[in-house]
Amino acid sequence: MGKVRAEYIWIDGTIPTPKLRSKTKVLEEGEEPPVWAFDGSSTNQAAGSTSDCVLRPVFKCHDPMRGGTSILVMNEVLFPDMSPHPTNTRAACEEVAGKYASHEMIFGIEQEYTFFKGSRPLGFPDAGYPAPQGGYYCGVGADEVFGRDVVEKHLDICLEADLGVSGINGEVMPGQWEFQIGPLPALEVSDQLWVGRWLLYRVAEEYGINATLYPKPARGDWNGAGAHTNFSTKEMRESYQACIDAAEALRRRHDLHIENYGSGIEERLTGRHETCSYKEFRYGVSDRGASVRIPWQVERDQKGYIEDRRPNANMDPYVVTRLILETVAGGAT
Ligand code: ADP
Ligand code: MN
Ligand code: MN
Ligand code: MN
Repeated sequence: MGKVRAEYIWIDGTIPTPKLRSKTKVLEEGEEPPVWAFDGSSTNQAAGSTSDCVLRPVFKCHDPMRGGTSILVMNEVLFPDMSPHPTNTRAACEEVAGKYASHEMIFGIEQEYTFFKGSRPLGFPDAGYPAPQGGYYCGVGADEVFGRDVVEKHLDICLEADLGVSGINGEVMPGQWEFQIGPLPALEVSDQLWVGRWLLYRVAEEYGINATLYPKPARGDWNGAGAHTNFSTKEMRESYQACIDAAEALRRRHDLHIENYGSGIEERLTGRHETCSYKEFRYGVSDRGASVRIPWQVERDQKGYIEDRRPNANMDPYVVTRLILETVAGGAT
């Protein structure tokens, strides 16, 4: 029997923004990826004296980087007694997703990110700044596009891994890009977004550049990087009033959501660059200056979904989808 290379991926305990880690386990062909362990004292997840943490596989797919029979295995982190580790945000998401399963909520997440070459965003000159924002978003041509070869490769491998990627586009700052995952249920979209992020870092490695999820990658008059989270319940897909009700529910828990939408959100949501200040909440049709946008076709069709524009690029999708489930499906009052 042949051997299978399984790359075990997990989320560490780095504060304030956790990082992805991974290591390789060689399996027998046909063997289900078993639970495994790692040294939590090296990932900010345990003290040296009681360092063992457990990895439990939650999602697996083909590994397009290694090819062949290789697989990627996304994990959640547990204590040796199999209870969820405090850094395991998936466990709470799973519980809430189960509780509100009858609402059939699905999410489409737009993951923005920025390539860095050394200490500068890719496409920034060694000194000074490139031409101001305006031509880069969905641009074409060597004066506007930086890193397309990596982005194309990332899309290829996401598709090869059979992730639910739904598109890519160039963003408003040089070296800034986006990919979208979904629409899928909370756990699926979140597991796959984390794997999509891992593949992004991994493929960029091959090109000697690194992808970052910094919410404000360049100071000054440059857009931040977000993770707009589009969502709908079964009811919203049938009724416009349900879409409005969802936006109103988000208003009632605005502060709680902002606190959990990624570190550094106040640097990004200043109100000076798309999406209003984190200090206010508003929603509107086609309004990209709002906290929550109702797409124009949703108003036309009188049903569909809405876009929460507040989450940072560095948000944890297990946390964001759980909060939206609790607030919208749970009917926050
Ligand atoms: P934008 O115009 O804001 O850039 P994108 O096209 O980047 O929008 O992303 C929109 C996302 O919304 C996609 O991931 C798409 O799959 C998702 N989406 C579409 N319809 C629904 C729906 N009914 N429920 C949830 N998400 C949806
Ligand atoms: Mn988008
Ligand atoms: Mn975008
Ligand atoms: Mn958007």
